[in-house]
Amino acid sequence: HCGFVAIVGRPNVGKSTLMNHILGQKLSITSRKPQTTRDQILGVQTKGHIQTVYVDTPGLHKGQDKAINRYMNRTASSALKDVDVVLFVIDAERWTEEDDNVLAKVRYADCPVVLVVNKVDQLDDKEELLPKLAAFSEKMTFSQIIPISALRNKNLDRLESLVESY
Ligand code: GDP
Ligand code: MG
Repeated sequence: HCGFVAIVGRPNVGKSTLMNHILGQKLSITSRKPQTTRDQILGVQTKGHIQTVYVDTPGLHKGQDKAINRYMNRTASSALKDVDVVLFVIDAERWTEEDDNVLAKVRYADCPVVLVVNKVDQLDDKEELLPKLAAFSEKMTFSQIIPISALRNKNLDRLESLVESY
């Protein structure tokens, strides 16, 4: 059995960090600067008879005027085709206009879309999380909403078993 997982989201939310931690290798380039990941980076995870292919996408961008943005949007959108599950990564801090642009693309995906709320380690107060998750859940009907910290390896095992269940 082989599954395809697309990791999408605006720049800097932690997509590459997430993929690296799942795969346990430094495959994808992470950076404080947005737009480090210019092309799709594929990673394959083999667990027994289950093989999962992760696709780390460049961010989906709003500005359509620059050729590079157009190119990156095209690659990110094409990553959404023929996948078994989409991991839509956002920053727990807040939902932005750029997240809306990503939402517009994943809304019509014909596979489950899991909202991955990353960087929960950065919330000052744990009490903040639940109301935030409730607000995010209003954006669309997600298959699941899962809070994680890609950097601190929090809840990643839950995310992995969730991905395997699809
Ligand atoms: P991408 O553009 O979505 O691929 O984002 P990156 O993976 O390159 O990460 C962007 C920045 O966010 C880097 O400085 C990461 O170290 C940082 N980052 C990623 N995940 C987390 C997290 O869970 N917690 C915190 N505090 N920082 C994170
Ligand atoms: Mg990246």
